[in-house]
Amino acid sequence: MDVSRLNIDDLFQNSIIWDAHCGIDPQVPLDVSSLERIRKAGFTYVSTNVGYDVLPWQQAFPVIGAYRRWLGENSDKYIPVSNVGDVLSAKRDGKLAVSMDIEGVSALNGTTDLVEVYHRLGVRQISFVYNKDNEGGGGCHGHNTGLTPFGRDVIREMNRVGMLVDGSHCSAKMSIDMAEASSKPIVITHANSRVLHDHPRNIWDEQAIACASTGGVIGVTGIRIYLAKAGDNKSSDLDLLVRHIDYLCQLVGPQHVGIGTDFAEITDALASRFEKAKDYWPPEHYPSGSDLGFIDIEEFPKLTAALSARGYSNEVVSGILGANFMRVAAMNWE
Ligand SMILES: [Zn+2]
Repeated sequence: MDVSRLNIDDLFQNSIIWDAHCGIDPQVPLDVSSLERIRKAGFTYVSTNVGYDVLPWQQAFPVIGAYRRWLGENSDKYIPVSNVGDVLSAKRDGKLAVSMDIEGVSALNGTTDLVEVYHRLGVRQISFVYNKDNEGGGGCHGHNTGLTPFGRDVIREMNRVGMLVDGSHCSAKMSIDMAEASSKPIVITHANSRVLHDHPRNIWDEQAIACASTGGVIGVTGIRIYLAKAGDNKSSDLDLLVRHIDYLCQLVGPQHVGIGTDFAEITDALASRFEKAKDYWPPEHYPSGSDLGFIDIEEFPKLTAALSARGYSNEVVSGILGANFMRVAAMNWE
């Protein structure tokens, strides 16, 4: 669609709104309240995580099963995603398209054979590491190691079956290695600029450039501790988001920037896990525990007007809201 002449409301309504990753706790029974808020906020697509290195790897399977059942039972509002066509159908029918992702290749239990299994079950994206180094390579709170031979094999298999390779939570060396190893565009679904705010979960310019050079996209994330130093109350959440978007657009070009909200409502399970797994969340980097400062999902649609007011064209805004990530998904999934 030609979006150039649309007003702000129509631009949002007529754009694909893509959340490359939300942070809902992967637990059975599912708590779908966050997903329902994402749908009501007007998103077209979201990827929700079904497992991460912090939990036993086998636990992903009952979570996937619960999502598949729940999505089937709520087909009046949600569509499970196999390919980009499902996202376009969701937009047409006013539903939320949902796919699944995994954070950390520990979920593969040491074998690339499981990549295709997860793909068949609806997983469309894997980020290799969750903060701490694992058998795939280096995490952002690890020793800045790079991709291992196993990690390289996993990328080859993901490229083959059609899954997005995600460099979030990785070390700087790791995400650059991943960009070099992948034959398809990679993504960094939820991270902000480390130049603007030096938190290890954010990415340096070289990482953003490596991702973009594959044709990939970086998702700006709505977690306050990754947006600015604690106590920076001068800027609104929206201003902080726009600052990071603006910076990355100037660095790598607006066609390589999108949104990965990491949105979730904090559950008791998540709070107690933070307490127990301090090796994944070193307290010096997570001083407020499990309350990372999740920005309300309802704030994100306001980016349309905020970016437009900064002089971004409708085409560019629509790309950041979702078309950029959808382009890269199509190149990987089809
Ligand atoms: Zn994450």
